[in-house]
Amino acid sequence: MNKKLKYSLLFILFLLFIGINVPGRTGELIIHFLDVGQADSILLELPNNEIMLIDAGNNSDGRKVVSYLRDKGIDTIDYLIGTHPHADHIGGLDDVIDNFEIGMIYLPQVIHTSKTFEDVLLAVQRKGKKITPARAGVSILNESELKIYFLSPIRNDYDDLNHYSAVIKVDFLNKSFLFTGDAEIPNEEEMIEKYGSSLKSHVLKVGHHGSNTSTSEEFIEKVVPDYAVISVGKDNSYGHPSALVIQRLQNHGVKIYRTDLQGTIIARSDGQQILFNQDPVNQNITGNHGIIIESVDLVKEMVIIRNNSNETVNLSRWRLVSVVGNQEFIFPQGTLIRPGERLKIVSGSAASNIDENTLLWTKSYIWNNDGDPAELYDDKNNLIATY
Ligand SMILES: [Zn+2]
Repeated sequence: MNKKLKYSLLFILFLLFIGINVPGRTGELIIHFLDVGQADSILLELPNNEIMLIDAGNNSDGRKVVSYLRDKGIDTIDYLIGTHPHADHIGGLDDVIDNFEIGMIYLPQVIHTSKTFEDVLLAVQRKGKKITPARAGVSILNESELKIYFLSPIRNDYDDLNHYSAVIKVDFLNKSFLFTGDAEIPNEEEMIEKYGSSLKSHVLKVGHHGSNTSTSEEFIEKVVPDYAVISVGKDNSYGHPSALVIQRLQNHGVKIYRTDLQGTIIARSDGQQILFNQDPVNQNITGNHGIIIESVDLVKEMVIIRNNSNETVNLSRWRLVSVVGNQEFIFPQGTLIRPGERLKIVSGSAASNIDENTLLWTKSYIWNNDGDPAELYDDKNNLIATY
C-alpha cells in the first residue's frame, strides 16, 4: 500500500472515529420557517441530505429566499412544492426555479389566471421541467426512516383556491411534522375523516397564517401538536393570527412560534427530539386584537368583554351574537376598549347603561338560560372570541 493511500485511509478512519460527518448524511432534519411577512416559505434540509422547499413567499420575497438558500450552500432543490396558486405562496417560485438546480416540482392540479401563476409556469418551462400533481396519496419520499407524502387536496372540485392547498406530512423516525399551506376547515374535516389519528404530528405549520378559517378544535384534537408555527406578517390587514386560534392552541398546551414576532424560526430534529432556535412566544400573548369574552351571565343578562392586549382596540361595528336566538348586538361607532379594560353589554328589563363601561343592548331578554354560546365578530366578520 503506498503511503498516500495509507494516510488517506487513516484520515477517513479518524473522521469516522471522532464522529465528524463526511459530507453526505447529516442524520438531522432541519426546518427553516422563513420570515417572509404575510406569506409562507419553508426550507427543509432532510436527513438524507436532500433539500425540500415548500412555497417561496410573495413575488417580492423571491430574492430573499434565493439568498437564504445560497447562504446555506444549497445549489440543488430536490423537491420544490407550491402549496397552491396564491401569490403569497408561489410568488417567489420563479426566482427559485431560475436560480437552482431543481428536481421534482409539485403543484396542486388547479389553475389560476394571475400573472404570478403564469410566471411560475414559464419558469418551469424554461427549466425544461414537468409538474407533478400534488394530491392526497402521492408519496414524495419513502425510505425506512423518512417518509414524506401529501394528505390533501383530497378532491378536485373545490371552489376556493385555499382548499387545493397541498398538505405535506413528514415522518422522521419517532417525530412527525405537518405542513398545511392555507388548507381550511373543510379540508381539515376531510383529513380527519380519511386519516383519523394518523394525523398526529409533533409540529404543526398552522394553516392559513393563523386565520380562524383553519385550525378547528377537532383538527387540533387529532393532530395533538406539541409545537405550532404560524407564518404571518406583522400588523397584516387580515387580522391574522386569530385570537381564537391562539386561544385554542394554548388551551391544548401547544407551544407557539410566530414569524411576525420572532423572525425566521428554525427547528432541528434527530428523529427523537425536536429543538427550536428560540423559546416559544409567551403564553399570555393573544392573537390579533387580544379581545376575549370574559364571562356571560345568562340569568343577569350581562356579558363582559375584556381587552387583554397592550393597545386600545376600536370595536365599532363589531358584533356580539347570542347563538341560540341568533340575535346580535352591534357595537356603536366609536366604541373603544383600552388595554386591560372591561366592557359590559347588558340586556333584560332591568338593564340600563349606568356607566361609561356599560352598553345597553335591549330591554328584552336575549340569553337562553338553558345554555347559549356567545360569539364576538370583528368588523371584517372574523370570529374573534367565543364563550
Ligand atoms: Zn397564504
